[in-house]
Amino acid sequence: MNFNKLAQILAVEPKYRLAQAKQAIFKDLIPSWVQATVFPLALRQKLQKDFPLSISAKEFHSQDGRTVKIVLELDDRLKVETVLMSYPGRRNTVCVSSTVGCPLKCLFCATGELGFKRNLTADEIITQVLYFARYLKDKKQRVNSLVFMGMGEPFLNYDNIIAAIRTLNTKDNLHIGARHFSISTAGIPSGIKRLAEEKMEINLAVSLHAPDDQTRARLMPVARQYPLAQLFAAVDYYLKKTSRKVMFEYLLIKAVNDSDEQARQLSLLMNKKLYLVNLLTYNLTGAFEPSSPERLTRFQSILKKNGVAVTARYSFGADISAACGQLAGRI
Ligand code: SF4
Repeated sequence: MNFNKLAQILAVEPKYRLAQAKQAIFKDLIPSWVQATVFPLALRQKLQKDFPLSISAKEFHSQDGRTVKIVLELDDRLKVETVLMSYPGRRNTVCVSSTVGCPLKCLFCATGELGFKRNLTADEIITQVLYFARYLKDKKQRVNSLVFMGMGEPFLNYDNIIAAIRTLNTKDNLHIGARHFSISTAGIPSGIKRLAEEKMEINLAVSLHAPDDQTRARLMPVARQYPLAQLFAAVDYYLKKTSRKVMFEYLLIKAVNDSDEQARQLSLLMNKKLYLVNLLTYNLTGAFEPSSPERLTRFQSILKKNGVAVTARYSFGADISAACGQLAGRI
């Protein structure tokens, strides 16, 4: 969907028609103009032809019922994946993609294997969320939060992700609160600094995955370009500007980054009160093996003993290849 096109189509109509159209799309969440009965029949037919509301996607449901993944087909036939994660208490988070494929080629990630195709537009990002807003409406629920942790490095598509967030945040759109958006970066210092300057309280997560440059560069080629000193200088700038928590994602991989010594090294890096570590289990994409549950517990206990705030995240949707690092745009 191209929302500028909608404005163009309605430019010849009375001004209130655009407001009515937005109400129909983002509040009533209609999937077809046929249901927009406030519009005259001729206008409904025109919109149905020139700005159809259908979203072409295939759904996959996890066995535990907590995860739904869609493979969404874009106008140029390329595909991206988006994941809905439902938490007990009816909280729904949508994990959106920001690009088709990804140029950063992290070794543990299926998206990186695809290579980079193109950036998504702000409208394509909004469409991913709209799909699940419609899906949840039928269950009398809504999208509560959004994470940019799907396909792609969000800061390589900075302008479009910020434009999408601003739109989704507005009252006449889905009105998702700014504090309910999180951007997860592989560690692009310029993006972190730009985010620090935004006048919005958006959450920042950084994929760390190793406490030293050498191991990190082995897992994430982008770390060769941006060593830890540069990354942490940008994060500290963000902290100074925003006073907001920063989440460091740490994917535990057997015999690569899960030793006691590496837990101690990580503890030293986590030297600010607003730093928080989130331990993730590695979801098989072929390259490595996951750490055992015992290793995860041991790693976590060392961090805790050293006074580091640490959580271990439930892995959503591994059975439908919807978990972290598994998105590859394949049906
Ligand atoms: S983990 Fe993120 S940044 Fe790395 S290759 Fe995958 S999508 Fe790209």
